[in-house]
Amino acid sequence: MSILLSEVTKVYQLGGERVNALAGITLSISPGEFTAIMGPSGSGKSTLMNILGCLDRPTTGSYMLDGQEVATLNDDQLAITRNKKIGFVFQSFNLLPRMSTLQNVALPMVYAGVEKKERLARAEQVLAMVGLESRMNHQPNELSGGQRQRVAIARALVNDPTIIMADEPTGNLDTKSGDEVMNIFSELNSQGRTIILVTHEPDIAEYAGRVVYVRDGLIERDEWKVR
Ligand code: ADP
Ligand code: ADP
Repeated sequence: MSILLSEVTKVYQLGGERVNALAGITLSISPGEFTAIMGPSGSGKSTLMNILGCLDRPTTGSYMLDGQEVATLNDDQLAITRNKKIGFVFQSFNLLPRMSTLQNVALPMVYAGVEKKERLARAEQVLAMVGLESRMNHQPNELSGGQRQRVAIARALVNDPTIIMADEPTGNLDTKSGDEVMNIFSELNSQGRTIILVTHEPDIAEYAGRVVYVRDGLIERDEWKVR
């Protein structure tokens, strides 16, 4: 599942003003890469993630995902591409409070039209992958922050995405829980999944094999770690 952005710009209209959130991003990410995106607040990281994650389209430029031009897809096609290929993890977990762990994790499969028996089996399977098989019937408020984020990772995995995108996934976690979460991303990466992560924390970016630094809507630096 290759990712290729060519000269991507994103312009927002804010009142009468134009905001150049992305000013010409060219970026290629190979299948199975683990990439961290860093940069100051307002530099365009969220905008870049929204485009990479097929939540939004570029204003100009090309985005080839797995050989398909995303920039020209309509909203429905964009949603289909996103649901099939990408799993999302957020800083604030975004779990539904009145649902159990198992129900939260099974929910994306409801939208994907998977039958109930298979939903439950698959949800149990991904919860075991993140070490939470004993917390299936708990609600989010009965779990620690680290456990909630692991539930969110399990939810991101149920439709078997090739790409996992995470925006500050450790931002609300203590160091130990953050490291547990990052170890899960490393494991998912070693299984061949592409991981793209936004973080402010250099210690967290250390888990990635590559760090892309964004500033003023442009790539300022792109560093590969020697392993
Ligand atoms: P970061 O995630 O690095 O903090 P963003 O991608 O959120 O940066 O924002 C980049 C720039 O685009 C900022 O100047 C921000 O205010 C602006 N911006 C982001 N989203 C919108 C939007 N929906 N409408 C108008 N301006 C936006
Ligand atoms: P963070 O830096 O924590 O990711 P941001 O403040 O950059 O959060 O953005 C949060 C959300 O608000 C993003 O989805 C972004 O697109 C949107 N956003 C950011 N700046 C603006 C803005 N000036 N006007 C409207 N929406 C914005």
